Amino acid sequence: MRPVAATRVAIVGAGFTGAVIARTLADAGIASVVMDERRHVAGNCHTERDARTGIMLHLYGPHIFHTDLPHVWSYIQRFGEMMPFVLRVKSMVRGQVYSLPINLHTINQFFGRAMAPAEAMAFLAAQARDDIEEPRSFEDYALRHLGAPLYEAFFRGYTRKQWGIDPGALPAAILRRLPIRFNYDDNYFAHRWQAIPRDGYGAIVARMLDHPKIEVRLGCRFEDAASEAFAHLFYSGSVDRYYRYDIGRLTYRTLDFERSYHAGDYQGTALMNHPDEDIAHTRVTEHRHFAPWEQPPTNETVVFHEFSRDCGPNDIPFYPVDLAAGARLLATYRERAANERGVTFVGRLGRFAYLDMDRAIDQAMTAAAEYLRGLGR
Ligand code: UDP
Repeated sequence: MRPVAATRVAIVGAGFTGAVIARTLADAGIASVVMDERRHVAGNCHTERDARTGIMLHLYGPHIFHTDLPHVWSYIQRFGEMMPFVLRVKSMVRGQVYSLPINLHTINQFFGRAMAPAEAMAFLAAQARDDIEEPRSFEDYALRHLGAPLYEAFFRGYTRKQWGIDPGALPAAILRRLPIRFNYDDNYFAHRWQAIPRDGYGAIVARMLDHPKIEVRLGCRFEDAASEAFAHLFYSGSVDRYYRYDIGRLTYRTLDFERSYHAGDYQGTALMNHPDEDIAHTRVTEHRHFAPWEQPPTNETVVFHEFSRDCGPNDIPFYPVDLAAGARLLATYRERAANERGVTFVGRLGRFAYLDMDRAIDQAMTAAAEYLRGLGR
């Protein structure tokens, strides 16, 4: 791509990151071309109606929008109606169903007790490994804050299946995403605003991109536009792919979804986790429960069993796996990316970070604003 006196900006990836950048630039009068090799917008947030049941499917796994950032919350609402949705996850351990995230109900049920908050706190403190002063790994963090019985039941098996490695080798930050509550609040997220778009994420992103200054090319790899001149490139693909993996591949996990149809209500809730290691899937998603405001047109329900595995060359990368073993490779790619002139690496894959949707939107707004500032706008 030649950064000559071109006026148009190239944006690789039509997920939230690319769409927010394109829209922010368009609103400031700057034209862009947004390319995505897939045939739809919205990246892994994409939702589409199931042809057989009409139920809205979270095609790449469940996505619940949750944020504490007022500017992100008002921004997303410009592009579609957000329906309030509180996620309440269940977890099935050895044939019993518990509530997640770990809360007083989970603790009392699991230990067959009826403890008040302070008692439960003292009870778990007695099981916690307080010799682990600064827990760095997922496992140490769990043992320090939950103790072995809860860790082994709810987290060890799930995490091994999800990440394919021992939790002792994973960073504590992954578990820090989940709260531990000593009350009966079973709201999975602690954020102020939680919602799912009425018409799906695809419709929201399509509306963001619907602007005369934005050209969208679907089914288009960024290599296909190599001969065109652009003023700048925002790249939200994976950073190692940008460099054609010339010093090696970063590690990602990918997901497979096994779809099945059932009469009536399959599991009575949107999300059931399965941490037991003798079960291959990690969780089961029943999509109709993500749209409680809709009346399904038929009596059938559609369910995804979700399986996690290492991401191969032809798979879609979902989760960046940030391991000490790959630290040098990642640091080298990041250094090259930081020094790349005329290119900004953005988003979950461009920055190799486990980003929630609101963070992706926030960072995209910042990246676009920085570019505009550089132009003196
Ligand atoms: N996790 C777990 N058991 C569960 C749910 C989550 O061990 O029942 C761990 C697992 O390692 C997972 C991490 O906590 O990757 C973060 O969970 P979250 O629900 O945020 O995962 P996501 O929905 O982003 O895949």
